[in-house]
Amino acid sequence: TPTLAVVGRPNVGKSTLVNRMLGRREAVVQDVPGVTRDRVVYDALWNGRRFKLMDTGGWEPDADGLQGFVAQQAETAMRTADAVLLVVDAAVGATATDQAAARVLRRADVPVLLAATKVDDDRLTSDTAELWRLGLGQPHPVSGLHGRGSGDLLDAVLDVLPETPRDDFGLGAGSGPRRVALVGKPNVGKSSLLNKLAGEQRSVVHDVAGTTVDPVDSLVELDGEVFRFVDTAGLRKRVKMASGMEYYASLRTSAAIEAAEVALVLIDASEPIAEQDQRVLSMVADSGRALVILFNKWDLVDEERRHQLSRELERDLISVRWAERVNVSALTGRATQRITPAMRRALESWDTRIPTGRLNQWLTDLVAATPPPVRGGKQPKIMFATQARTRPPTFVLFTSGFLEAGYRRFVERRLREEFGFGGSPIRLSVRVRE
Ligand code: GDP
Repeated sequence: TPTLAVVGRPNVGKSTLVNRMLGRREAVVQDVPGVTRDRVVYDALWNGRRFKLMDTGGWEPDADGLQGFVAQQAETAMRTADAVLLVVDAAVGATATDQAAARVLRRADVPVLLAATKVDDDRLTSDTAELWRLGLGQPHPVSGLHGRGSGDLLDAVLDVLPETPRDDFGLGAGSGPRRVALVGKPNVGKSSLLNKLAGEQRSVVHDVAGTTVDPVDSLVELDGEVFRFVDTAGLRKRVKMASGMEYYASLRTSAAIEAAEVALVLIDASEPIAEQDQRVLSMVADSGRALVILFNKWDLVDEERRHQLSRELERDLISVRWAERVNVSALTGRATQRITPAMRRALESWDTRIPTGRLNQWLTDLVAATPPPVRGGKQPKIMFATQARTRPPTFVLFTSGFLEAGYRRFVERRLREEFGFGGSPIRLSVRVRE
């Protein structure tokens, strides 16, 4: 089902309007400033059509942060929902905060509607004309008190809301929250880090209501972007695994990685890299997901341990040296602000598509400088390359003969040198054409 996000300043009558649209009163209206409330998703039904109504909540940041906060909510809404409803208070008019939100929403590539609340008599109806200057088209006047206008508004919502959502969180879809797996052996600090990230960014961690979505996931807002942390139920509740459960833990890890687009693999930097760490890293590389390695407990790492660790990296982690890496401490918060940028870089690499022309130009030069080794008296020719897929970038080389493994690895290495792909595995396959 498609989602309509409702955004607006606190106390503009957003919750009252949402209740109206839901046709019920049980959702609590909180007009108490400073009350923290999660983003809530309701199932709505109008004229026989189902949709989801996402109320971005009315919790209030410190007074001077309000403008940025509402603008950020608008930003998040337009990236995650299928349509956005901006609610303004007609009795007050367009404030600087409303304007900031409107500025963001004018860039949206999803439909945006404007609702003017507290239009309780005809005099105020004429005042809504002033709201045209927000640049979001016709304001829809509604009275939360009488319910007047909310039916027309819902008709308008259904007119602009697509039949199918932009993203069912399925792999391969271009939008919706990016899915993150937070994995690593027991006691590396996964719960601590999730709490740190959620707390520090004043973000919202909660279950996602609905059927298409697994209720064990958490949505966490980091740097203004909502990420979906998959299978975090155990982490939030700090459930400890009984011993002898390693097999199931490993199944669960592998399922989380499969469900994700990017894996954050936590490794305890204060201890030698364990076989279990390497297994998790191989799972990520084999599944073709983007990878960020977080060396946690960095507060416990001294000079000597640091030297040891760099030797272990050379020895044990050479196969994933393309991964993004950050040394963090979930305990002290050290460098945790570098995690989101690293995750974004990895995902960007994962999504990268190299235009065929550029790829072949590069390949022609490469092969001219270093031709593939002769086999059985024949020189295999590399005719053409194409990037067949993204997520992860997958390349196909068309050749006239077998390419040996060493040369394939050489091509792969040079591909990375030329185009980057930091944080993402890449794949290279060879098709021999006779
Ligand atoms: P999980 O099993 O991976 O979820 O690990 P927890 O988050 O429960 O952490 C296990 C233990 O490591 C707890 O006692 C944490 O306080 C501790 N811990 C987590 N992160 C750090 C860190 O960065 N530094 C230190 N010194 N201790 C940490």
